[in-house]
Amino acid sequence: MFVPKRVFFERDALRYPLGERLYHRFKSSGLPLSYTTGHNRVTGVPGDTPRRAYAEAKATLVVGVKRSLEFQGSRPSADYALPLVTGCPGHCQYCYLQTTLGPRPYIRVYVNVDEILARAGRYIKERLPKETSFEGSCTSDPVPVEPYTGSLASAVRFFAGQEKGRFRFVTKDPQVSGLLGVEHGGHTEARVSLSPRYVEETFEAGVAPTSERVRAARQLWKAGYAVGFLVAPVMVYPGWKEELEDLLRQVAKAAEWAPFLEVVTHRFTARAKRLILARHPGTLLPLEEEGRQYRFGQFGYGKYVYPPKVLEDIRAFLQEETQRILPGSQVRYVV
Ligand code: SF4
Repeated sequence: MFVPKRVFFERDALRYPLGERLYHRFKSSGLPLSYTTGHNRVTGVPGDTPRRAYAEAKATLVVGVKRSLEFQGSRPSADYALPLVTGCPGHCQYCYLQTTLGPRPYIRVYVNVDEILARAGRYIKERLPKETSFEGSCTSDPVPVEPYTGSLASAVRFFAGQEKGRFRFVTKDPQVSGLLGVEHGGHTEARVSLSPRYVEETFEAGVAPTSERVRAARQLWKAGYAVGFLVAPVMVYPGWKEELEDLLRQVAKAAEWAPFLEVVTHRFTARAKRLILARHPGTLLPLEEEGRQYRFGQFGYGKYVYPPKVLEDIRAFLQEETQRILPGSQVRYVV
């Protein structure tokens, strides 16, 4: 379980029952507590090199209030991002949060969960009679802090009561027990994130091994959730096809159902490259611009992605292998 080294509180967060509860919980556990004037400008996280500052920030929890309730879009995963948590204690070198969070990789939890969910309810109403979907992991892995906040469970319960609202989240954290008994009404989809062996062994740290993640997926499925896998990031290196095939076989061995798959290929931004090289000097990540295509993303920054021909190879390979190894499963998208 994620245990932070230090916790910062916005004073306003203490006006909410969850903020107050978290304050007493962390105070009684003896963790160093401080106040911050805003969750977006926390100062006082130690670290005299980019590498150490990064590691210390990843061990820092900030408890705040989500003030902007204009939700961002979250394509292709969902219509909107549901901002319950920002950040993740994991240390995956390739992580998209290197770009999204840039110099602020500390973990933020928001205590005004009821206000956030009420806003989601208004989005749903505005779009009726269409269904509206929300992604709970747009800028986070929300599961590591769930034992503290319970906010993911609150969201699952909220969406169970929304006829036209759907919720989804993705995680690499197998500690999903807090979600298993929650009434979800079939309105929440869980995805467990998996990566091929070389990617897991070379670029991931501070996250559970694949076998435990697959076990968590099974638990969620047994609890009645729709469960799929996010295969990410797919990279091209000697043996990538064999490793993806192995991964699919591992899923097939554990899954008594036909899980859907979503696939994200490796990409990076100039900002992420700069930060990754400072935080993980000597990284083996493929960060050369040559051989990539530059494309503008939905958040206004450009990224280096695999060119169409390579993407098409990956797509065709995964479609074919999924049909063969996981008959009945659907590859929803490969981006
Ligand atoms: Fe990023 Fe996911 Fe790894 Fe967390 S677990 S560091 S969100 S890739």
